[in-house]
Amino acid sequence: MFQPIKNHISKLDYYWLTHSNLPISLINSANFTRVTREGLVLADIEIKKGKIIQIVPSDSVNINPDFAINLQQRIVLPCFIDLHTHLDKGHIWERSPNLEGTFKMALDTAIADGEKYWQAQDVFSRMEFSLKCAYAHGTKAIRTHLDSYGEQPDISLRVFQDLQQQWQDKITLQAVSLVTIDYYQTEEGGNLAGKIEKVGGILGGVVYINPDLDSQLDHLFKIAKARNLDLDLHTDENGDVESIGLQKIAAAAIRNNFTGKILCGHCCSLAVQSAEVVNKTLELVKEAGIAVVSLPMCNLYLQDRQTESYLTPIWRGVTRVHELKQKGIPVAFASDNTRDPFYGFGDLDMLEVLEQAVRIAHLDTPYSNWIDSFTKIPGEIMGLNDSGIIAQDIPADLIIFPGRYFSELLSRSQHNRIVLRNGKPIDTTLPDYSELDDLVFKPTHQK
Ligand SMILES: [Zn+2]
Repeated sequence: MFQPIKNHISKLDYYWLTHSNLPISLINSANFTRVTREGLVLADIEIKKGKIIQIVPSDSVNINPDFAINLQQRIVLPCFIDLHTHLDKGHIWERSPNLEGTFKMALDTAIADGEKYWQAQDVFSRMEFSLKCAYAHGTKAIRTHLDSYGEQPDISLRVFQDLQQQWQDKITLQAVSLVTIDYYQTEEGGNLAGKIEKVGGILGGVVYINPDLDSQLDHLFKIAKARNLDLDLHTDENGDVESIGLQKIAAAAIRNNFTGKILCGHCCSLAVQSAEVVNKTLELVKEAGIAVVSLPMCNLYLQDRQTESYLTPIWRGVTRVHELKQKGIPVAFASDNTRDPFYGFGDLDMLEVLEQAVRIAHLDTPYSNWIDSFTKIPGEIMGLNDSGIIAQDIPADLIIFPGRYFSELLSRSQHNRIVLRNGKPIDTTLPDYSELDDLVFKPTHQK
């Protein structure tokens, strides 16, 4: 059933996708009156020369049957936006596994791998492999953090720029520097900010609670303002009740009258703090205009890993996404790490992130407009206003899934999805893992 649809579309420059189920939150809803419990509407989408011409309620206009492709209620989404990844670390698992599964071992193992292997060719090949995966799964924009101590940004940013150019028609790429924020108080850190500005990147870092945090943040905001850079900060990636980095960042943004965009990733500890602390933090985050990105798969993996008192994890590791959303704070979800010491799995498939986030964070009762957090909201945060939505006059970058309702979409593998870019189906074959064999040693079978 599905393959003939793909073959049919690939022969047409002009067609309608009829009887498609679209999330109402991702379209201009003016003409739609019948909405399902899951927030879906039945729509006909007119596509011409790679662009969306119009979206109308199904059966409301006469369509020439020669140009109509009936999707029979299958879900259609805009191509995904992956707001927080680490492409430079991706796919090193076989040569540098994290056999404890702890955050500390992840950090130590990744640093050691970087020192040993991260020359241009190694970084390039693994990043390119990840882009191939993401593209085939239907992602059209990715923001990646890049480890940026010492000489590494000279290598990684050059590789990033090469890939950004080579992939510009397929995936929009943004880079974020990744160091602890005290590094920006050093001369090397100052230089790093200059390098990030040069590549049009985002100033990033890890925020740890320490006695000098306020002055470190003030300095960070000062250089971000001076260079007109947005911020993207790893925040409170732990289960420590004392970790109030998010609150500190928000207060610093207000204190420094910062007008750029701020994105905070993880914010796990918010989930273990008292209602009083949470309320104060949310007030400040809202006032400061901060957006939050949750990384549910990596959090589930890394948070609450065995401690001395128990072995089985007892909390999910994700931040309070519902409370944030209720407060009107933009919330996105993203992949984070892929097959590296911070997360041993993953394939940069945002549908998997959606599936897992729905289960881990209970996004299903109701689904409401949570789908925006994988599409429209990360698109807005990345400044891509024609992405993550389904609208008139924008490229027909869409994913057609076999599933008709969320329960079908999120239950059975959707690997046979059709990805349209500029109205044409792309090859969704995933790269073979053997492409990485020269970079990561092949595991030996022990005797
Ligand atoms: Zn991260």
